[in-house]
Amino acid sequence: MDTVLLSDNDIDLVKAAELIRNGEIVGIPTETVYGLGADASNEEAVRKVFAAKGRPADNPLIVHLADFSQAKDYTTSIPDLAYTLAEKFCPGPLTMVLPKNDRIPMITSGGLDTVGIRVPSHPVMHRIIEISGRPIAAPSANTSGYPSPTSAEHVMRDMNGKISAVVDGGSSRFGVESTVIAIEGESTVRILRPGCVTKEMLEQVCSEVIIDHAILHELEAGQKAASPGMKYKHYSPKADIIMVEGELEGFIAYVGEHTGDDVYSLIFDSDSDNFPYRYMTYGKDSSEQAHLLFQRLRELDDAGAVRVYVRAPRPEGVGLAVYNRLIRAAGFEVIRV
Ligand code: AMP
Ligand code: MG
Repeated sequence: MDTVLLSDNDIDLVKAAELIRNGEIVGIPTETVYGLGADASNEEAVRKVFAAKGRPADNPLIVHLADFSQAKDYTTSIPDLAYTLAEKFCPGPLTMVLPKNDRIPMITSGGLDTVGIRVPSHPVMHRIIEISGRPIAAPSANTSGYPSPTSAEHVMRDMNGKISAVVDGGSSRFGVESTVIAIEGESTVRILRPGCVTKEMLEQVCSEVIIDHAILHELEAGQKAASPGMKYKHYSPKADIIMVEGELEGFIAYVGEHTGDDVYSLIFDSDSDNFPYRYMTYGKDSSEQAHLLFQRLRELDDAGAVRVYVRAPRPEGVGLAVYNRLIRAAGFEVIRV
């Protein structure tokens, strides 16, 4: 199959929407990362998404809608808190897990009786949903297990020949996937996957915000994941990623003892003055680190890195999302110095 590169003008967006209506798969920019868009109500189309990504069948897809008012068309009940959250955070990088109805096939929800609903703010994604008139399932457009794509070029690299088209909408603003939450009480939510709608932001609306244990800890054998994506090795480049926690001085000393050919460090902008070993930087604060993380992991592979020591941000605010991706990329290998 030839994968066509489309631009973000309206003629091309009509083409993209038409492909989706016809059960084809299109790489689409969103404000989080690029998604692999398909008609969420079309089982055949959704099957193609799982095949293109090599994604395990029990890992559910998020369904994207043009407006939260459409959520009632795909769910059996919506708690009041969901509407309050939607008012504050939709459109944007927040996914709410709700009980699904049978317009969402089981293959889309990975066999669960719930569905993750998101209303994206990116004008290209929004327009494609609107023109197609379909709910759009859109997992991150990477090969399963590999870092998520934040540019059309990343999608092309992973998906060329496997999907019909990719729409180029520039680089993704946030750079990490949406915050996924489950609603657990009148004013309680549980974060299943951290993102750029942070715990602190949710606390402005909810009286209790629980961080699911699996966000920072490896699941024990046989333990059930509230968020199925959390049980897989994820976000990993080819290079071996190792998180080194502690002050810069200790980090430098540790890298010094373990450096070698094709070893890199991934550090903060503020660490780079006189940093004595080979490195890349990934921003000055956790928002920049979220924006740049996946791009840098891909660049480290391109540079031929075999091992990468990473300085991780503190796991708070947007830093929790960055930390969560890194700890999985590292297969939970964390060194404390
Ligand atoms: P991705 O499609 O790559 O953004 O990953 C979506 C992730 O959202 C999945 O791996 C799950 O962890 C989570 N998710 C989606 N739908 C549900 C659901 N119905 N229940 C729990 N978690 C979900
Ligand atoms: Mg993903």
